[in-house]
Amino acid sequence: MAVPFPFRARHPARAALLAAALLAACHRQPPTAETASPAPEAEAARGPGASTPAAKPAPATPFKMPPLAAGPAELWKEFSGAKAFEEVRKQVEIGPRPAGSPEIEKARALIERSLKSSSWQVERQSFTDETPRGPVIFVNLVARYLPAGIPSAPKHTQRAIVCSHYDTKRFSTIKFVGASDGASSTGALLELARVLALAPALAVQVELVFFDGEEAIVQYTDPGDAKPDGLYGSRHYARELRDSGRARQFKLGILWDMIGDKDFNITLPPDSPADLAREIFAGAEALKVREKFGYLDRGILDDHVPLNTFAKIPTIDLIDFDYLYWHTADDTLERLAPDGLEHTGAVTLYHLRKALK
Ligand SMILES: [Zn+2]
Repeated sequence: MAVPFPFRARHPARAALLAAALLAACHRQPPTAETASPAPEAEAARGPGASTPAAKPAPATPFKMPPLAAGPAELWKEFSGAKAFEEVRKQVEIGPRPAGSPEIEKARALIERSLKSSSWQVERQSFTDETPRGPVIFVNLVARYLPAGIPSAPKHTQRAIVCSHYDTKRFSTIKFVGASDGASSTGALLELARVLALAPALAVQVELVFFDGEEAIVQYTDPGDAKPDGLYGSRHYARELRDSGRARQFKLGILWDMIGDKDFNITLPPDSPADLAREIFAGAEALKVREKFGYLDRGILDDHVPLNTFAKIPTIDLIDFDYLYWHTADDTLERLAPDGLEHTGAVTLYHLRKALK
């Protein structure tokens, strides 16, 4: 992650954008999950009010979605902190995994293999962006559940995004493996994929995104700046959602970042979408971990910001920024415990069950 930032003069504009996003969300119509025809995507890509069809390639043969099992009612009980921790360990053992490095490609291969074993189809969203150190190739991994019996995962059934960054910050003076800052949320997201696959009717409503390039190459700047540094992957993904029209199908987003600390406490940014924050607190209360969820006293610039401002999808950042070892050589496995991973996974699943009926 991510950097705390003071609220500056231009941030009232951001607050207005967030309010508009919430308002828009209230009027958003959920798509149906009955069929998997590609036609709705073509419709969405044209945008509202378009009078002539956009020039698009002929759609593939529509296929019918098979019946999907609802899975366990109390799905959140299936999330294992221990299994998530094993995924975290595998990421950390690669070593530093900065954007554009050979090591981050190893991280991608691990993520893809794990997702595939849980019946998720992975799209590599590659792009080149300018950074203060020259152009870098970034790769977001976008995972969609692939129900048995159909050839490819539908893209119009998703209504929630759960996301994390998997890159680690590049340091020239220390060996930084990002156990909490990068690996923790990535490993937990792989465990979430395994658990969601137990409930296919819910899984097709969730898009899992692993962002590249969350860390600044030199220093964070506001994502709205002319040459921003940091949040490369989420800026690209959010703009693509907006420009393709897919943003409209999403009701909410949940970002995870730095959730591995032994002394786990979620510190929500003060500008979190209010309804979503209330619902997350209610979920934490129901699961008897309410005391672990509170607010930070400063704003946080993290991957939720482009989703809120560019794609206008109300997105909350579940982050433990009260972490002594942030951006130090001591952000290692020894500082971590499975508990925070399990609490975050369970509260998220509880909310997805409530919000995506
Ligand atoms: Zn970081």
